[in-house]
Amino acid sequence: MSINQLQHIIGGEKVSGSSGRIFDIYNPAKGKVIRQIEGASSKDTENAIQVASNALEGWSQIPPSKRAQIMFTYRELIIKHTDELAELVSQEHGKTFADAKGEVGRGLEIVEYCTAINNHLKSDFSADVSRGIDSHNLRQPIGVCAGIVPFNFPAMVPMWMYPVAISCGNTFVLKLSEKVPSCGLRLTELMHEAGLPTGVLNTIVGDKEAVDELLTNPLVRAVSFVGSTNIGEYIYQEGSKNNKRVQALCGAKNHMIVMPDADLEQSSDAIIGAAYGSAGERCMAISVVVAVGDETADQLIESLMPKVKSLNIGSYDDPEVEMGPVVSKASQEKIVSYIEAGINEGAELKVDGRSETKKEGFFVGGCLFDHVTSDMSIYTDEIFGPVLSVVRVPTYDKALTLVNDHEYGNGTAIFTRDGDTARHFTSNVKVGMVGVNIPIPVPVAMHSFGGWKRSLFGGSSIHGMEGVRFYTQLKTITSRWPSGIRKGAKFNFESGKDV
Ligand code: NAD
Repeated sequence: MSINQLQHIIGGEKVSGSSGRIFDIYNPAKGKVIRQIEGASSKDTENAIQVASNALEGWSQIPPSKRAQIMFTYRELIIKHTDELAELVSQEHGKTFADAKGEVGRGLEIVEYCTAINNHLKSDFSADVSRGIDSHNLRQPIGVCAGIVPFNFPAMVPMWMYPVAISCGNTFVLKLSEKVPSCGLRLTELMHEAGLPTGVLNTIVGDKEAVDELLTNPLVRAVSFVGSTNIGEYIYQEGSKNNKRVQALCGAKNHMIVMPDADLEQSSDAIIGAAYGSAGERCMAISVVVAVGDETADQLIESLMPKVKSLNIGSYDDPEVEMGPVVSKASQEKIVSYIEAGINEGAELKVDGRSETKKEGFFVGGCLFDHVTSDMSIYTDEIFGPVLSVVRVPTYDKALTLVNDHEYGNGTAIFTRDGDTARHFTSNVKVGMVGVNIPIPVPVAMHSFGGWKRSLFGGSSIHGMEGVRFYTQLKTITSRWPSGIRKGAKFNFESGKDV
């Protein structure tokens, strides 16, 4: 049987890559190659950037409310094609169909936010900053923007970027993950079906070669990256060196503190979804539970163990399945090596999911470690799989210190019934996104998503108003219209007080 060959979309046309490297795209539940694509070379990428640059002037001159009309149509198309898009996500990523539909829905919310882009671009106006002088701001497009996205949210993460960027009047080159490109390519086709002029959104699939062109080509003005920390740090440094605005959202190790006063059954249900949903391949997954007090830890472990053991693991097309495979053989092997390291370092493996690796496909069963300490690699490193560590601490203060001392600061949560503790935690924790009795506190579209510490380089969160600011440059205009008042030349630097 011949394998379906995918193509890049540049200037609204489907084009083949020329890097000479063929990427195999797997159905991870079967461990079989289902599609292929030849990666974009630096020449292909340069071409996509040039096409985006050529489209910039025309697109940026279109009034925001007209750009928003296309987003209204796009919204309808995404709703109509949700099942098809979710199917593409599940086929290549492995997550359950319901979870894939959920991420399409979260992406859709960004598109809905963009239907009101003229409201988000509304400027400040100050009348009479000095006698007869007014001042106002414009948020103008920055130019050609690039997006480099990870494998784990094939629909949602691209939609964190290009709808906002193009609604703001920019043109875009989207570099999809070579593991899961089909949904992003289909989303690009739907943008054109919605009426987007060709050249405004160009979508390629590639590796370091394509990325390096995006980071060095002088026509690219801003780069958004979502992915692992080492690559994100490289993207940030290289992009900044080449005078680009860069936001790089990176890896995570998200802690959930469970206080002794928490509803432990509710906490344990929340942990199961947050740690094992999407096989732990979420940057907001809970990978560490910090149990305050041994009694809390003992009760939690007792509640969690049967739930982890009975996770229904399988392929996305079985509606009963709760957890799918991990994305690749390499991920599976990496996760297993961490489980072995955890055992060797002295943590207690309460549930061992390694038997699932014997199945066809890239499966790893849910794993649960107790008595994990902060020097173990299963605690320090992002595993990005269904492996949960329970760390025991005697007090809330020790729990807070643990979270704050970790190099990552993407998401965190506290489960408690005590408002005072919750308020202290939200004020003092050094993490970008915080949940109170919410295990995965992913901000909705009108807020912004972003971590602290080594979970974000470049300081700018994504989507919401932070996204609008990232994809626009500020211009401040100070104007005086001739009023007949003649005062002669002034040589001092005026302030508003000099009226
Ligand atoms: P990754 O870093 O391997 O890949 C991300 C992107 O970078 C891909 O498009 C990939 O093609 C490209 N890339 C890979 N190697 C490169 C190199 N050497 N030079 C240039 N580009 C390169 O990440 P992944 O495995 O696809 O995704 C998982 C990671 O993403 C996890 O670390 C997860 O925490 C993180 N993530 C973070 C967020 C967030 O918002 N903070 C969201 C989703 C995922």
